[in-house]
Amino acid sequence: MKAVAVFPASHKVTIIETEAPRLHRPDQVMLRMLDIGICGTDKEICSFEYGTPPPGDDHLVIGHESVAEVVQVGSAVESLQAGDLVVPSVRRPCPHPGCLACRCGHQDYCYTGDFSERGIKEAHGYMAEYVVDHERYMNLVPPGLKEIAVLAEPLTIAEKALAQIFWMMQHRPPWLDPQAPGEERGRGLSALVLGIGPVGLLGAMKLATAGFTTYVYSREVPPNPRIDLVTGIGATYVCSQAVTLPDLAAQIGNIDLVYEAVGHSHFALQALRALGTNGIFVLTGVPGLQAFIEADPARLMRDMVLKNQVLLGTVNAGPDAFASALQDLETFRRRWPAVVPTLIAGRYSPEQAPDLILGRPTGIKSVIAFDPSP
Ligand code: BGC
Repeated sequence: MKAVAVFPASHKVTIIETEAPRLHRPDQVMLRMLDIGICGTDKEICSFEYGTPPPGDDHLVIGHESVAEVVQVGSAVESLQAGDLVVPSVRRPCPHPGCLACRCGHQDYCYTGDFSERGIKEAHGYMAEYVVDHERYMNLVPPGLKEIAVLAEPLTIAEKALAQIFWMMQHRPPWLDPQAPGEERGRGLSALVLGIGPVGLLGAMKLATAGFTTYVYSREVPPNPRIDLVTGIGATYVCSQAVTLPDLAAQIGNIDLVYEAVGHSHFALQALRALGTNGIFVLTGVPGLQAFIEADPARLMRDMVLKNQVLLGTVNAGPDAFASALQDLETFRRRWPAVVPTLIAGRYSPEQAPDLILGRPTGIKSVIAFDPSP
């Protein structure tokens, strides 16, 4: 079967022919991969800046955002059957008995760092025709979501962050509007999203759905389909080339939430200074090596203490976030039927993957599609 792999030692990204996997354990499922999304992490892996092959292998099959059809199930599998659609989660637990997070199924909070991540760290990924995985890491997809379910994994980042934020909001009295309905808990609050990549856009959709008055700040200028998407969901786009962050903060008023989705340290630090009183700043981007910058930590510390601010980093996600991402994709589609299909820029063959990953992104989310026939 075909797969797309990166060979870090020889600096190659290529299609490989490899043996199709087989079920080895009764709790495993065989997946026929349908769509695999391409993201910034894949670009870093294919630029040899990130990513590690499984121990003993010279290559890593990439791909971690995906949707697949179950084609075979082991004898102990109870929750899935052939024909089901699933989105697999990415991270797998570390082996250490003392890691409380991994031992209770929360490997996204792993203490040891010895977790693996499919398609990223020490485990092959999903950009292959067939994959074998364990039932417990599968998230069942309603059949109607097949075309957009590949967006569930990048959306889990916002879902996990928002779940924590809402929990905090309940314990921060000035934030709660007792009249706001459960699904609009952000009503009356303002959120600023940094960046209009897929993570930023999906974050903006989640925030708008949760009732936040949402602004998106990035350097792109119109015309741009990503900016169209921002306005299409009722959020406000502000171009960083035209408006400075302090001016934007003066325009918005108290910024209750910043959702950083750029992975640029200088930009993030500037934005941290714009965070409002009782504000929460969420970091989702993983920056590569960047130039050393000057900062004013005393001012940041003073602000954080005197304004009760929270700085929250969040990576990957657990089963609850996958379930709410799938639910929210349905909500997005109902709420913005014309906008949601524009999220997928196009479906391309695996042969096109290396150029697509390493080239300039076109549209919003490019997807590699394997032929769904056996
Ligand atoms: C993936 C996460 C992963 C992170 C860091 C992201 O692109 O969506 O699952 O944890 O990269 O490796």
